[in-house]
Amino acid sequence: MTGKWAGANQVLISREALRHNLRQLRRQAGRAGIMAMVKADAYGHGMLETARVLAAEGVEAFGVAEVGEGIALRRAGIRQEIIVLLGLWPETAAAFPAHGLTPVLLDGAMVGPLAAAAAAAGIVQPLQIKVDVGMGRCGLAPAQVPLLLERIAAEPSLRCCGLMAHFPASEDPDAASTEAVRGELSALLQGLGLAEAVGYRHHLANSGAIWHVVGSSLDLVRPGISLYGYHPDGARGSARLRERGVELRPAMRCTSRVIQVKQVPAGTGLGYGHSHVTRRPTTLAVLPIGYDNGFSRTFSNRGQVLLQGRRAPVLGRVSMNITLVDISDIAGVTAGDEAVILGSQGDDCLGADELAVWMNSINYEVLCLLGNRNARRYQG
Ligand SMILES: *Cc1c(COP(=O)(O)O)cnc(C)c1O
Repeated sequence: MTGKWAGANQVLISREALRHNLRQLRRQAGRAGIMAMVKADAYGHGMLETARVLAAEGVEAFGVAEVGEGIALRRAGIRQEIIVLLGLWPETAAAFPAHGLTPVLLDGAMVGPLAAAAAAAGIVQPLQIKVDVGMGRCGLAPAQVPLLLERIAAEPSLRCCGLMAHFPASEDPDAASTEAVRGELSALLQGLGLAEAVGYRHHLANSGAIWHVVGSSLDLVRPGISLYGYHPDGARGSARLRERGVELRPAMRCTSRVIQVKQVPAGTGLGYGHSHVTRRPTTLAVLPIGYDNGFSRTFSNRGQVLLQGRRAPVLGRVSMNITLVDISDIAGVTAGDEAVILGSQGDDCLGADELAVWMNSINYEVLCLLGNRNARRYQG
């Protein structure tokens, strides 16, 4: 998938930035293998092309949410282990042996259907188990794991190949949950005699934990956001990494193109609801981008874009496919000029961390919105 139809709005993905970020993560993760998280169409960067780039760099595994994503990766020729976090249902069980995908069991409900599907396919199906040690989301309590392992061991067509858990706040150095999660999973693995067992690949660390939680790397690590060049804690987190000499490179750039330049007098109501009325004679650039293109409606009267390397503030409401920006203080803008939505132009740069603040959200959402709602191209 390339996201959307080609048009004035373009997302450009730097393959070299993806490779660079992977190298930084590898250095930090030590002996652990990399499970690249490419769900959400690789956080807007395009799952298939991102996976091709990272596979060529030798990542050990890929993580996706749904079984259809795993099938698409196999059809694109990806040979690494593919772990499907949420896609195991009675009607998808057969797809796991058929496509060589590894499901994650959240409890015992799917043992029967998966065992039957694997037996019918004549294979021993690997699977993983999600333990809830403090995330308070999916997975089963540590005390329930031994019984589930027994049930799995009793099925000749199934083989457990790893336990996983997830951190609720690993990017926050003060989060009390972090050490509890790490300690509980570690105690569980020790207690079961599985901590160092051969044939198992346990994993726990997301990007925040890779950077900040000593001892969380286990056999695999699961970076998402930092592969794409960002820290889970936004600009503050990236600054902390820079102090340690780690520079991540945002892989996504997003641009639009001025479709019209016009002057309006003071007192002109702009766009739907006239939520901005000009206070002075104003020069406007019309951009053919809006919330349909992932340029959030929350940017109304709030966001900025770069034109001629300068900041042009959004005036009025962002509509579905049109946004007005104020270029009264920027000389020389003409129709056809490139407007930078995300990325640098001249000496200035708009990063997903800043757009996330305007949206009252996180860099993850900015990347998903812009990346998945515009045509993508790749370079490098
Ligand atoms: C998405 C996801 C990750 C990646 O998290 P980042 O914060 O993007 O590094 C890791 N583990 C699980 C279970 C996930 O769903």
